[in-house]
Amino acid sequence: MLSSQGVPTAVLEADQTVGGIARIVNYRGYLFDIGGHRFFTKWDAVEELWHEILGDKFLARPRLSRIYYRNRFFYYPLRPKDAPFGLGPVEATRMVASYLWAKALPEGPETNREQWVTHRFSRRP
Ligand SMILES: Cc1cc2nc3c(=O)[nH]c(=O)nc-3n(C[C@H](O)[C@H](O)[C@H](O)COP(=O)(O)OP(=O)(O)OC[C@H]3O[C@@H](n4cnc5c(N)ncnc54)[C@H](O)[C@@H]3O)c2cc1C
Repeated sequence: MLSSQGVPTAVLEADQTVGGIARIVNYRGYLFDIGGHRFFTKWDAVEELWHEILGDKFLARPRLSRIYYRNRFFYYPLRPKDAPFGLGPVEATRMVASYLWAKALPEGPETNREQWVTHRFSRRP
């Protein structure tokens, strides 16, 4: 993006190849995604860059992600109506109460991943 605006840039890469955890590795003829495998962004400028680079190689595909929890599948991103049906009204009520508790009385500053998750989603899974 910078270079397209005429800004001089340099890429410094410690590995043998660029791409970080979003790269694809060829192992014995098989291609493996190390990390990222789907493009998703809320930034129009990033989306435009992908289209600019990939052109007609940009493939749109339907996506289905689910979390397997307590012998059931839950849609991800989560759908509110899944909780009462998937977990039962008692557990769903506990989770909502835990969430409201976390929002009303956040536990101290965020200095680690556990606190970051708890502040946003509460202690109860
Ligand atoms: C399992 C998994 C699935 C994911 N799925 C998705 C997905 O579906 N969609 C999505 O958008 N994102 C996904 N992500 C997240 C996405 O892959 C990362 O957010 C993104 O790749 C991070 O990019 P980055 O450039 O910040 O860091 P990195 O990819 O970590 O790149 C850092 C680079 O810096 C280099 N480096 C490190 N230290 C030095 C140094 N001292 N000098 C020079 N170079 C150095 C490293 O070698 C590396 O190449 C996924 C991640 C994982 C792990």
